[in-house]
Amino acid sequence: MQTNFTAEQLADPHVAEAESILRKCVHCGFCTATCPTYVTLGNELDSPRGRIYLIKDMLENGRAADEQIVTHIDRCLSCLACTTTCPSGVDYMHLVDHARTHIEKTYRRPLMNRLTRNMLAMVLPYPGRFRLALKLAALGRPLAGLFDQVKSLKPMAAMLRLAPTKVAPPSDFAKPATHAATAARRGRVAILTGCAQPVLDPGINEAAISLLTRLGVEVVVPQGEGCCGALVHHMGREEQALDSARRNVDVWTRAIENGGLDAIIVTTSGCGTTIKDYGHMLRLDAAYAEKAARVSALAKDVTEYLHTLDLPIAETKGMIVAYHSACSLQHGQKVTMAPKLLLKAAGFTVKDPPEGHLCCGSAGTYNIMQPEISAKLKARKVKNIVSTKPDVIAAGNIGCMTQIGSATGIPVVHTVELLDWAYGGPRPKGLERTATDGANC
Ligand code: SF4
Ligand code: SF4
Repeated sequence: MQTNFTAEQLADPHVAEAESILRKCVHCGFCTATCPTYVTLGNELDSPRGRIYLIKDMLENGRAADEQIVTHIDRCLSCLACTTTCPSGVDYMHLVDHARTHIEKTYRRPLMNRLTRNMLAMVLPYPGRFRLALKLAALGRPLAGLFDQVKSLKPMAAMLRLAPTKVAPPSDFAKPATHAATAARRGRVAILTGCAQPVLDPGINEAAISLLTRLGVEVVVPQGEGCCGALVHHMGREEQALDSARRNVDVWTRAIENGGLDAIIVTTSGCGTTIKDYGHMLRLDAAYAEKAARVSALAKDVTEYLHTLDLPIAETKGMIVAYHSACSLQHGQKVTMAPKLLLKAAGFTVKDPPEGHLCCGSAGTYNIMQPEISAKLKARKVKNIVSTKPDVIAAGNIGCMTQIGSATGIPVVHTVELLDWAYGGPRPKGLERTATDGANC
C-alpha cells in the first residue's frame, strides 16, 4: 500500500513503525473472511482491511481520532485471526496497538464509556479489588435487566452477568514461594500468577504447579509480580501497560539472576501474548530493552513448556475433549499443536470444533464493552463446540473459559487441569459427574 507520511511524521518511531506495517498491506482482502467482526457485521469498516484504511487515513493526516474510527477500532477483538490469514505478513497487532494509543491521547469518549473503562482499568488488574468487585457484582446481579434498558449501561449489565456466583478464597499457590521439584530435578521456571485468573479460578495455577513439580521442575512464584498489563494495553493506556511490563521484567530479572530460569510459564494465553511482546513494547527504553527481550524469549505457554518434557503416553480415558484454541494462543502465539498433542498423549480423545479460528467473543474486556457482538460470537462458538458432542471443553485462557462456560452446562476446564489429572493429580472441579472416564483416573 502506498503511503504519504512526511519526513517529520516519520521521525516519530511509532509512526515510522506504523508506516512500514501499512506498506505491507496489498488490499487483497483475504483477512476479511476470517475476521469475526466482518463475518458477524458484514461491514468493510469492521474488517481488518477497512480498519487498516481508517488507521492510515488518521495517521497520515495527523488527525485526532473521531467517532467513526473509535467505533470500528473498539469493535476489533484483537483476536489476530487476520495475522494468521494475511499472506503479506501485515503486523496488524502492532498497528492496532498504535492506533489505540493514538485514540486514547486524542479522543474524549462519552462520559459513561469513560467511567466504565476507568473502572475496569482500576479494578481488574488488582486481585484484591477484583475479588471485592465480584462479591459486589453477585449482590447486584438482579439489576442486570434494568441496566440492559439503557444503552450506555449495557456494559454494566454484561459485567454483572459474567461475575461468578461464588468467589474462591485466595490460594496459597498465588503467594510468593519456591515449590521444590518432587522428582529428579529437570528444570527451574517462574510462573505468572497475574491478576484476574487467580481470583476467577485459582485451581489452574495449582494444577500447573503440582504437575510441574511432580515432573521434576522447580517452580518459583516471585515476590512483586502482578498484572502483565494486557488489559490496559488493549485500552491504549500505554504508560500504564509499560509500567506493568517494567515491574514484571524487574521481578523476573531478579529470579533469573538468583538461580536461573528455563522459562517463565504463563497459564493465561492472553497474558502470554503480551509478555512475549515485552521486548517490543520496551524496545525504545534503553534501561529495559535488553532485559525485556530476555524475559520475552523465556515466556512460554504452559503447554509449550510441557511439550518439551516428553510426557509418557497415558491410558485412554474414554473421554471426549473439545479443545477450544484461544485466539491469543493460536493467532497471538502460534501455539496450535502442543495442547492437543499433550491431551492426546494423556489419553483423551480430542475434537477440533468447526470454525476454530473464530473468536469466542471474550477478548479481555470485550464481552463487557461490546456485549452484543460478543454474545453473537459466543452463541456461534458454543454451537460449534457442542456439535462435537464433548464430555468436557478444554481451553488455555481464563477469559474464554468464563465466556464459554456462561453459555453451556458442559464442564469447561483449563488444559493443564486435565493434564495434571491424567498424570496423578486430582480430578478437575466440574468433572465429578462426568462418568465416561476410565477406571484409572
Ligand atoms: S484482530 Fe480480529 S477482529 Fe480485529 S481486525 Fe483482526 S481478525 Fe478482525
Ligand atoms: S490479508 Fe493482509 S495484505 Fe490482504 S488486505 Fe488483509 S491485511 Fe492487507
